[in-house]
Amino acid sequence: MDLPEIPDRRTLASAWDDMKRAQRGAEQTPPPPPSIIPEPDLLPGGVVRFRCPHGCGWWHDEHPDTEPIRLIVPANFTSQDISDAITLDGDVRGLSLRNRIEQAITRHYGERHPNL
Ligand SMILES: [Zn+2]
Repeated sequence: MDLPEIPDRRTLASAWDDMKRAQRGAEQTPPPPPSIIPEPDLLPGGVVRFRCPHGCGWWHDEHPDTEPIRLIVPANFTSQDISDAITLDGDVRGLSLRNRIEQAITRHYGERHPNL
């Protein structure tokens, strides 16, 4: 049975420094801009429903589990390349989702609540 390798002090110190540097970076990052996206309802079947916060009965549905995952890695990829590709795909899908929802809500406000 192979025992896991025990990292040396230098590796642990480096990991600690990386973690502290990331923590400082997160503390200095400004908060995200305010969003018009309301809290969603999670429905059976993986449906995420965003209801109009003004109670008119309108909603916009998303099906995030049905989107394909697209990973682009170099020919001689490493595990870090895969990790980076997964992160990038998640970021792109998240932005795409946010844009779709914001556009649907903006369109709805223009049609149904033009004075808001
Ligand atoms: Zn509405």
